[in-house]
Amino acid sequence: MLRNDQLDQWDREAFFHPSTHLAQHARGEAPNRVIQTAKGCHITDRDGNELLDAFAGLYCVNVGYGRPEIAEAIAEQAKELAYYHAYVGHGTEVSITLAKMVLDRAPAGMSKVYFGLGGSDANETNIKLVWYYNNILGRPEKKKIISRWRGYHGSGLMTGSLTGLELFHKKFDLPLANVIHTDAPYYLRRPDAGMSEAAFVDHLVAELEALIEREGADTIAAFIGEPLMGTGGIVPPPEGYWPAIQKVLDKHDILLIADEVVTGFGRLGSMFGSDHYGMRPDLITIAKGLTSAYAPLSGSIVGDKMWKVLEQGTDENGPIGHGWTYSAHPIGAAAGVANLKLIDDLKLVENAGRVGKILNDALRDAVGGHAHVAEVRGEGMIAAVEFQKDVAGRKFFEASEKIGPQISAKLLEQGVIARAMPQGDILGFAPPFCLTEAEVEEIAGKTAEAVAAVL
Ligand code: PLP
Repeated sequence: MLRNDQLDQWDREAFFHPSTHLAQHARGEAPNRVIQTAKGCHITDRDGNELLDAFAGLYCVNVGYGRPEIAEAIAEQAKELAYYHAYVGHGTEVSITLAKMVLDRAPAGMSKVYFGLGGSDANETNIKLVWYYNNILGRPEKKKIISRWRGYHGSGLMTGSLTGLELFHKKFDLPLANVIHTDAPYYLRRPDAGMSEAAFVDHLVAELEALIEREGADTIAAFIGEPLMGTGGIVPPPEGYWPAIQKVLDKHDILLIADEVVTGFGRLGSMFGSDHYGMRPDLITIAKGLTSAYAPLSGSIVGDKMWKVLEQGTDENGPIGHGWTYSAHPIGAAAGVANLKLIDDLKLVENAGRVGKILNDALRDAVGGHAHVAEVRGEGMIAAVEFQKDVAGRKFFEASEKIGPQISAKLLEQGVIARAMPQGDILGFAPPFCLTEAEVEEIAGKTAEAVAAVL
């Protein structure tokens, strides 16, 4: 094993970390935690510190760390057939099996699965498919994509544009043309404190209708949204939001892309968020929970309506010109098959719903009454605590006050990882689905102590 000082030096000299303050890192001011091992809900760093990971990495290690079933499936696949491509009709037993397993679990009306590597590239695929579809249908003007402020869909050129968070646009010349944003379904930040949840949904629908009217429905191809917003602050939709949005989209012949990178495969206590909230998507983006992050793999699940058009289109236009070398990589697929089996065998979706509710309740009991806690919200195995300067007066903290980062740092001192969400005033929790009730108590108790220490 390398000495710590050697590792730190190489880290600074060689490694470009994503989403990192590069200058602070170079000066040694940013944390450079090196993780060595992990088991269940716990990770251990190189100094032997054990931490309860209440964010499952980046809400992705859904079945928990150190599962031998998945590690062995990956090793077996690597020995038998590490790689073959999926172009021009090729495949491997494991990638075909995984496609069938995904479809068996998907919401009604889904037809095929295209496999990529991560959530960002799967969303790029989805946008290309939407454009291709409208071109085949002879409507080349129908290309704009509506996304929501605070939505997160990745950090590629198109997906970074769809992402409705300024950090991902700033200095990158994003968003690109053809992307338009509408308001987030964020009830806490409704325009008027007296507005009911139902009135807020009506308000969002009116905003969307006005946007479609302004731009012209014949220029708008699709609407993309996470069933429950993740990186934008862990925001469940208000009651009735998705059916109301769906109605508008149907009326204007606008496709719906459900970005289920976080919610897919059980995080809300249902297999898919689309079913949970009554969405009828034409495309579904999957990634993280597909393999529980044991290997990189993502997917675009294509609905019947689009599939028919795409398939017929190739008779006229030839093979579809889209694919990566690593599409449907057998090692990722092996991880996916073993992961989905494990989720079934251990009933982890049910556990995510049951223990997730206990987690949400425990956090509400622990900090919900604190003078600076505006809201404890969540669904299934995901939760957020949002802090406010003055709850009654609806005065929000500035991001520069770094309330979330201060509290998460305190929690870390006590051995618990929660995520300071990028907004600066929200603490996020999204543990592995195998979380126990004892671990819930530890998370809630230590969160209360950390909040009391900072506010
Ligand atoms: N979509 C959603 C909803 C996400 O939360 C993420 C990542 O967090 C992505 C897309 C992008 O996935 P990736 O980071 O694997 O590219």
